[in-house]
Order: sequence, then C-alpha cells, then structure tokens
Amino acid sequence: MKLDKYSFGVGDRFAQQGEAQLKAIKKAWEAGIPFVPVWNKSNREHQIIHSSPADTRREADKAVTALGWDHPYYVDADHINIVTVNSFMEHSDFFTLDVAEYIGSQVSTDEMEDFLAVADQYSGELQIPGIKDPFHISLESLREMAGKFLGAVAKAAGIYRHIEEKKGAGNFIAEVSMDEVETAQTPVELFFILLMISHYHIPAQTIAPKFTGRFNKGVDYVGDVEQFRLEFEQDLLVIDFAVKTFDLPDNLKLSIHSGSDKFTIYPIMGELIRKYGKGIHVKTAGTTWLEELIGLALAGGDALEMAKTIYSKAYCRQEELCRPYETVIDIDPDTLPLPTEVDQWDGEKFAATLRHVPGHPDYHAGFRQLIHVGYKVAAEMGDSFLAMVQEHSDIVAEQVMTNIYDRHIKRLFKI
Ligand SMILES: [Zn+2]
Repeated sequence: MKLDKYSFGVGDRFAQQGEAQLKAIKKAWEAGIPFVPVWNKSNREHQIIHSSPADTRREADKAVTALGWDHPYYVDADHINIVTVNSFMEHSDFFTLDVAEYIGSQVSTDEMEDFLAVADQYSGELQIPGIKDPFHISLESLREMAGKFLGAVAKAAGIYRHIEEKKGAGNFIAEVSMDEVETAQTPVELFFILLMISHYHIPAQTIAPKFTGRFNKGVDYVGDVEQFRLEFEQDLLVIDFAVKTFDLPDNLKLSIHSGSDKFTIYPIMGELIRKYGKGIHVKTAGTTWLEELIGLALAGGDALEMAKTIYSKAYCRQEELCRPYETVIDIDPDTLPLPTEVDQWDGEKFAATLRHVPGHPDYHAGFRQLIHVGYKVAAEMGDSFLAMVQEHSDIVAEQVMTNIYDRHIKRLFKI
C-alpha cells in the first residue's frame, strides 16, 4: 500500500460530513490537484465523543460509495500508541505512530552503540545536496541526538511491528509523529531521526516533525514565517537525500499536523513542494465541526438557538474544555463575548464571528478556539445535536466543502 503524492487528512468529530469533505477533494481533482482523502481521528476524540474507530471507517466507506469515488482513500488511526492501537486495528489502514512522549527515553547501551556505529559515517562535515552550508556533526552531538530520539524511534518500531503482525506487511501505511512537543526538531535532527527510522526498519511513508512556531487548533500560524520557510525547505531536501541514502520508502514525505487554518504558511508550503516536485500530507483538525455550527447559525431559528446554547455552555466550562488542549490553543478569556451579548446576535453575526476569514471585522480567534474545544458540549447533547445538523444538512455541507476547498486547498495550490 503506497500513499499518493498529495493526501489530505480530514478530521470529522461527529462523522456526519464525509460526503461534503469528499466533494471538496473531488473539486481539487477537477482543478488538477489529485489529493486523496484520509479520514483521521484520534483516540482522545473518540473518547470524548463516545464514538469508535468503526464509525470513522463506516463514514469513509459510505461517502466513497455515495459519490462513486474510484481513487484511493484511507482511514487514519491518528496519534496512536501501543496502548491505544488495538481498537483501530481492524478499521484503519493508516497508522500515525505517536512517539512524542518518548523523546528522551533511553535504550540499552548496546542499542545505542549499534546506532552510533552506523551514524558515525555522517559525522564531520555533512553536506545535504541543495543546502548551501554543510552541517558540522561532532560525535558529541550525535550522542546527544541519539539520546533524545533513539528511544522514541525504538518505541515507534515496537508499535509498527505490532501492527505488522496483525495486518501483514504492506497492508497499511505508517506515519511517525513527534509533533506534539514544545521544541521544534531542526532539519539536521530530522536527518538523524530518519536514519534511526531506517535503522529500525520502519517503512514510514510520512513523517510529522514539530515545526518552528505555534500550530494552534483552528487558527492561523503564529511564529517566525521566514524561519518556517527555511526549515521547511531544508526538511524537504533532507528527506530527498535520506530517501536516496537510507533504506526508506521512496514516497516518504512530510506530514503537516496543521491544526487546520494555517493560512499564512500554506502558500509557502505549496510553493516549496512544487519547486522540488515533492508530495505532502496535510492533516487538518476537527474544524469541520465548526462549519457544522456555522451552518446551524445561518439556518436560524432553533438551529441558531442551539449554536448559542453551545457557546454559552462552553463559555461557562472554559477551564475544563481547554485543559486537554492547553499546548495547542491560545485564548484570552477577557476578550470573549459574554453569552448574554451573543444571545442578541443574528445568524450572520454568529457565523462571521466563528468563520475564519482573516481581516473580517467580526472574526474572533478566541471565540473560534473556545467553540473548537467545546465539541464536548455538542457531544453531550447527543441525538438532538446530530438531528439538527441532519435537518440542515444542505447548508452545513456547503460550509464544510467551502472551508476545505476554498480556504485550505486553494491556498496551498494557488488555484
Ligand atoms: Zn499531531
């Protein structure tokens, strides 16, 4: 199973919008950008919503059948580890091996020395084709990088072998992710991480490093854009060299755990992958659920009332809802509109405050992020929320499709 050059990870909290999401991907094909869809959902999301990996598989299959999609598609067991992987086994064919928490964990002295013996050939001046200046790699820095990442990659190998045993080699796609950490991995660290991945024989087809800057959920990139450009370009060149030099799949590419809506850096990523003829996997977060709420607000009446109730409840439960997402949101509570104020709004105002249109006078990043993490409130409403979304499925689907195609894919590919 070989992942295509361009793949797009669509999360869908409530598993209602598979068709609308797939329609956006279809539009990309019509525009000459052959993206394949990957439905991704993590264990954390399943637990909060009380859904199961089988639901995601069902949603994907249903959308594919309904639209007669005859290109590949995948279901991603997002951010799994050795403890959580089993419930996904039967339903996923894409596995994101998340080993961020094992960064800094140690391996045995023998394992360490084995790796260092292999890595030693890259000490001294390391010249990566396309990167102007060589990197200076001392034995000490090799030891330091191995100390940081070898334990994590060894864990990834453990999870990979476990999946391989159950599903069989070649029957699934593996991604290695280390993105959910504070400190970015530099391009030279990525080089050695890839050497470790090769050393442990993990045929990873995508790699998700932590990039410089903040990738908050559902809002734009915050950070040094020029630094990001430099790192991203070097990462592409590092991967190119690693694929030619190490034992790794030739389609290995970067996976960007974008958290959605990284409008400032999408054009940069698009420009650079085109410059080098590279592929990309863009994983988006569950912002489809925000489009569901925008659709409800625009529908007016009871649907708008429900959207307001969800905000009001989320406002009162800020601390509890934000806690699991602490490292990936930035909300200034003092700027949030009071629920009593929101009660006076019409649907257009609610939608414009929530919808991410940079520069729009009503757009409010804090309001958006709070609702983004507030999906738990909607989940608790259970069937009444789902029934409302289904009742207004046309207007909701239109929002979902426009969001993915117009605000994400078009920005990446300058369509
Ligand atoms: Zn991630």
